[in-house]
Amino acid sequence: MAMFSLHGQCALVTGAGRGIGLTIATALAQAGARVILSGRRPEALDEAIARLNKGGLVASSLVLDVATPAAIEAGFARLGGLTDRLDILVNNAGIEEVCPSADVDEARWDRILGTNLKGAFFCARRAADMMGQGGSILNICSLTSEIGIPTAVPYGASKSGLAGITRALAAEWAPRNIRVNGIGPGYFRTAMTEGFYADDGWRQDMLGKIPMRRFGELPELEGAAVFLCSPAASYITGQILYVDGGYLASI
Ligand code: NDP
Repeated sequence: MAMFSLHGQCALVTGAGRGIGLTIATALAQAGARVILSGRRPEALDEAIARLNKGGLVASSLVLDVATPAAIEAGFARLGGLTDRLDILVNNAGIEEVCPSADVDEARWDRILGTNLKGAFFCARRAADMMGQGGSILNICSLTSEIGIPTAVPYGASKSGLAGITRALAAEWAPRNIRVNGIGPGYFRTAMTEGFYADDGWRQDMLGKIPMRRFGELPELEGAAVFLCSPAASYITGQILYVDGGYLASI
């Protein structure tokens, strides 16, 4: 199974203090990568690293706010103190604010697009400059990269844009041997989605739409993430792998 090994590779995961980011960071570390967990809050990163250490894994942490290009620059300047080479970037950091489109003001639009879309692009560009012989970028997309969901207009715009970035960068950076792919998670219970899960009507409605009749479990994202970052996916670029219990296939 050497083709799935990430030994010798250095991975940076954004928004890795909890949820999907922490799940993927842990999986990459288990596959042998040297992982750098990044996020805005050092306390969350310390807790995440303690969890990895408990499982016998070693990782470092980096304060990296992806909300603005200037903050990304500052974070990558600090990254220079940890490594001079990156092989993997996981653009996971993201925010969502459920809001009817009539109430979306410019500040909300900029906040969501700034983090989820602009942030991912500027992180990708900065990381690519640190990928000597090539590397792999994994963008965490969403069902809203493909379909429209009410009250998620800026979020959907950001995630549709992220799918576009994935394809355009894949085409542009293929000659540099940098692969750019995405994962589109269906519904996974995290801090971001907790509010939905509290609503029994939403749960029943959603379960009726998911062919597997259940929500995703975070470890079910691990295999897809490791695979797409690994040599096993060496000829795959510009693709988004949906991990959604069959949701998109059925609508
Ligand atoms: P969480 O809210 O649990 O995690 C989001 C992470 O992003 C946190 O670690 C947060 O850290 C970090 N983050 C937010 N803003 C910034 C920022 N400006 N700079 C750096 N880090 C930031 O949600 P999920 O784990 O669910 O979400 C992870 C990704 O998965 C997101 O991109 C989301 O859109 C996507 N996704 C999630 C789905 C789900 O069902 N859960 C479905 C589809 C996609 P902190 O606040 O500490 O900085």
